[in-house]
Amino acid sequence: MTDHVRPRPGTTAVWAGEEERRAGEPTQVPMVGSVSFGYRDLEDWTSVARGERPGHIYGRNTNPTVAAFEEKVRQLEGAGAATSFATGMAAIAGTFWALLEPGRRVVSTRDTYGGTSVVFTDHLPRWGVDTVLCETEATEEIEAEIARGCDLLYLESPTNPTLKVLDLARLAEAGRRVGATVVVDNTFATPMNQSPLALGAHLVIHSATKFLGGHADALGGVVCGDADLLRRVFRFREITGASLHPEAAYLLLRGLKTLALRVGRQNESALRIARWLEGAEGVTAVHYPGLPSHPAHDVATRQMRGFGGVLSFALEGGMAAVRRFLPALRWAHLAANLGAVETVAGTPATTSHVECTPEERAALGIPEGLVRYSVGIEDPEDLLADLEQALAAARVRGE
Ligand SMILES: *Cc1c(COP(=O)(O)O)cnc(C)c1O
Repeated sequence: MTDHVRPRPGTTAVWAGEEERRAGEPTQVPMVGSVSFGYRDLEDWTSVARGERPGHIYGRNTNPTVAAFEEKVRQLEGAGAATSFATGMAAIAGTFWALLEPGRRVVSTRDTYGGTSVVFTDHLPRWGVDTVLCETEATEEIEAEIARGCDLLYLESPTNPTLKVLDLARLAEAGRRVGATVVVDNTFATPMNQSPLALGAHLVIHSATKFLGGHADALGGVVCGDADLLRRVFRFREITGASLHPEAAYLLLRGLKTLALRVGRQNESALRIARWLEGAEGVTAVHYPGLPSHPAHDVATRQMRGFGGVLSFALEGGMAAVRRFLPALRWAHLAANLGAVETVAGTPATTSHVECTPEERAALGIPEGLVRYSVGIEDPEDLLADLEQALAAARVRGE
């Protein structure tokens, strides 16, 4: 055994980005709000500004608290480099603007996050980028589209809100074959459950707002992966300015320390709840990659170490039943976020696909009567009892 054994993810989540504290310094990475960093002489200042020596100059470019957050995520994803953004959407859009130009072709699927699909349908076309959105589960159709020419392949798995699963290794290979940059939104899985870079992706994106932060009190986004690509993404972000605020970085960093504990618990509870819901009265469908009934359960089992904390289900009685069910939940915020320590529930119409019209949601195959349920770290017994009484309440009042 060498003494350089790579730590396991639970240890990396706690220590990465903050192990180099010196004697007498605070043990915790401080929240550095200062906009600028001062120098005593021009030589020093110039060499830091030129990147010849480590250091910080101006907060839009880099900041020590933000850098610690980036380093933690970089190590968790096993990436060469990482750059943060003010939000997940800023990270996604920033990656596109940094890497694409008129005449480029993007291949993706219909089930990407609502905001992402709006970028595909409304914004990239304005810049002359051709975007093709394939049926999410039609692997061969996606491969055929990639073979027709693809500069950037954008994948999200599991998807929001119907938890579809893409075969990331197979699609990444198809993308690499034609020289595409392969980008994966890993927000739902988290680095605990899925490592897209090991499956062939060049870049991994997170909405850090969700599981990475875990406490629903800070927005943030991060892109990590290949260092050459990241240099371009960083250059774009430092100039256009969607930089992560140091206070948000501080909160995200603090949240990240418990990522392994939280996600471990959420994986277990979500699987238990999904199994229970499958047999529950008044539930017509349950979407969760950990269920053998999931159409891509075998792919999920191959590429994921846990199936994540989000599931969705449809109620008998559609939207009317959902309207009775949601307010009856005692242990859930009815809110638009997910991945928090508290359970959060909502419908696609108010959460992931609020940007879309009902017609657009229907075209995306997203039923209006679906409940998205992001399992928190509460005791699963209480969550099961809560779901049981809320389902009963939805039924009784429905009669
Ligand atoms: C929330 C979310 C985003 C967008 O992140 P923001 O931080 O809200 O901008 C992108 N992708 C997925 C899968 C998400 O859940």
